[in-house]
Amino acid sequence: MSDTATTTRPGRTVETVPVTRLGNGHDLELTVHRVVGTRPGKTLVAFGGIHGDEAMGPEEVRRLVTSVDPAELSGTIIAVPVANPYAYDAMSRFTPHDGLNLNRIFPGDRKGSVTEQLAAVLAEIITGADHFIDFHSSGLYSTVEYAYVMDDGRDMATGFGSPLLYHHAPYEGSSNAWAITNGISSTVCELGGGGQLTDAFLDKAVSRGRNMLKAIGMLDGEPEPPAAPQKVLTELVILRPTQGGAIISDYAPDRLGEVVKGGTVLGRVVDPYTFEVIEELVAPFESSVLVLTREGYTRTTPGDYGFMVGNADTTLTVEELFDR
Ligand SMILES: [Zn+2]
Repeated sequence: MSDTATTTRPGRTVETVPVTRLGNGHDLELTVHRVVGTRPGKTLVAFGGIHGDEAMGPEEVRRLVTSVDPAELSGTIIAVPVANPYAYDAMSRFTPHDGLNLNRIFPGDRKGSVTEQLAAVLAEIITGADHFIDFHSSGLYSTVEYAYVMDDGRDMATGFGSPLLYHHAPYEGSSNAWAITNGISSTVCELGGGGQLTDAFLDKAVSRGRNMLKAIGMLDGEPEPPAAPQKVLTELVILRPTQGGAIISDYAPDRLGEVVKGGTVLGRVVDPYTFEVIEELVAPFESSVLVLTREGYTRTTPGDYGFMVGNADTTLTVEELFDR
């Protein structure tokens, strides 16, 4: 963040970083929180709201950042709770101005469109970090729980302690891919969404986030190991309805993490005009673990996230992943 004064004294600051000026006369800025610990240490950058329909992320960042007292912190937390303010305002995955997905165009372009300029400023903020965490959730009508484990992010993923992890190549143009390109260890947390079980998920974001800070040496104390060994998914599929309408779900978000048999109907797409069932969303793996589900009745559009399911028969332990 070359264009802002960098605070190094212990305490909290909030600053705004200019991005561009819009045609409506409003300045597009990013609000950046900084918690500087009383002891030296590493720098963690945390983002929320890179997808504007994933409203749990900003609140997860707010609760985690405000839970940390500078007196207990070694190093610095730099947090951007709402990484795409106009998408957040529109409750959309995409920026209204140019229709782009902010999380597919890193490192952006300072001479580009609104989303490209946002990505460029955010990429600069990531570049100075030792660790990076991006808080996502499901969107308006579904609920999710897992986290990414990257090749250089073992401590972050085990510290965060999500019961289900996913190991894969980072999505091209994502904030996470940019962190990895810069040698920064990272994780992506997918937690909550759909307005379901919000208090429980927000509590998890804080307790797991603080545990992760212990695992990377920014808070004192030993990180608590996960209650059960974490499962690393190596196969994860999104079941997307090909037609719009309503989804009637048999597996509400309190079933997340459950394993169901292959062929189980997870939900049915119902035509709200004719009342016909026009599609079934079916568990594809012989042992299918539920990663993203929906409340009893929700709306959907073609290509939407219907359910997400992992293959429970090809999971690894964290040790197996890193020892293979
Ligand atoms: Zn997202």
